[in-house]
Amino acid sequence: MSGLEISNVSKHYGAVTAVNDVNLRFNKGEMICFLGPSGCGKTTLLRMIAGLEEPTSGTIHFEGRDLTHVPVHKRNIGMVFQSFALFPHLSVGENIAYSMKIRGHSRAEREDRVRELLDMIHLPGIEDRRISQLSGGQRQRVAIARALALNPEIFLLDEPMSALDANLREAMQIELRKLQQELGITTVVVTHDQTEAMTMADNIVVMGKAKVLQSGKPLDIYKSPVDKFVAGFIGTSNLLPATFSGNGAVGFGATDVKYSAANGSFANGEQVLLMTRPEEIFVHKASETRPENAIEGTVTFVRDIGATIEILVDCNGYEVISVLTPKDDPDVHVGTKVFVEMPPAACSVLAA
Ligand code: ATP
Repeated sequence: MSGLEISNVSKHYGAVTAVNDVNLRFNKGEMICFLGPSGCGKTTLLRMIAGLEEPTSGTIHFEGRDLTHVPVHKRNIGMVFQSFALFPHLSVGENIAYSMKIRGHSRAEREDRVRELLDMIHLPGIEDRRISQLSGGQRQRVAIARALALNPEIFLLDEPMSALDANLREAMQIELRKLQQELGITTVVVTHDQTEAMTMADNIVVMGKAKVLQSGKPLDIYKSPVDKFVAGFIGTSNLLPATFSGNGAVGFGATDVKYSAANGSFANGEQVLLMTRPEEIFVHKASETRPENAIEGTVTFVRDIGATIEILVDCNGYEVISVLTPKDDPDVHVGTKVFVEMPPAACSVLAA
């Protein structure tokens, strides 16, 4: 079903272009994460969906309805801000029911809805507490409940985890995702944390300098990033300079390395990047038989933390990281000469 459609949307502040010609389509009920470094325009895009900013050009539709110039209070959206923006002088219940009161819902209706929402966020019975008596995680849940009080059709969250400590953040990512799936509500979350985006999203939009660099399912972006910026932003990647040789292989030093995917079309002899993910490559002692599709190197660091073994290898002056499970432990240490096996299925080629 057609959901959120963002068409040719740009936003300029004087000479600053915050969002530049963005086109995106999402299905109703999806969880979307806008991911990117500070200043790339993700908050501005979210605020345009909310109606807090008007696009300089372009349109925003939801379920076929043109929202572009509809004022914020006439859009059926719920929003959670980075700071939660709860009213400190009101109780939890009054905070949650605030928008219902403004819209003239009766006291009985408000009380019922507050009870229902507090059950939903697993904090039953706290309606009379003061905001100052709540922990960070509880405040966040109350902010979520408040945003959902009027059953919005779009749920928007701007960096919702940034005020929480690391452990709580992870738990809340899972909780928010479960809640979103239960409600089936179209949700957009702004974040600069790639793990958060990978945990929660049906679709990730990677942004850089006011533009969309790539948009798609989290694993598709992880497996096939369009360029080195996206490859570096989503997960850890090894990027080695190589020469395109046109026969399904690239040259790294004197070694031909076969690849399975190329993002772009390249000419023979062109300088490219050979990309691998650390968990898809293997390290073997150079004293053993040379595997297919392997480059040579010397171990510079080993970190064995039980569940995984991380090995850094210097290959012709470039650092390659391999993350292995204990069953693949090559038993190497700093200074060991090794082969780094890069199976063709693990190798892709990107523009340099
Ligand atoms: P962050 O993660 O730091 O919040 P962001 O990706 O959300 O960054 P935006 O806040 O959307 O980025 O800002 C994008 C660009 O637009 C920045 O260069 C910013 O300085 C500029 N900008 C945003 N709002 C305004 C404004 N009201 N007036 C002028 N420039 C603005």
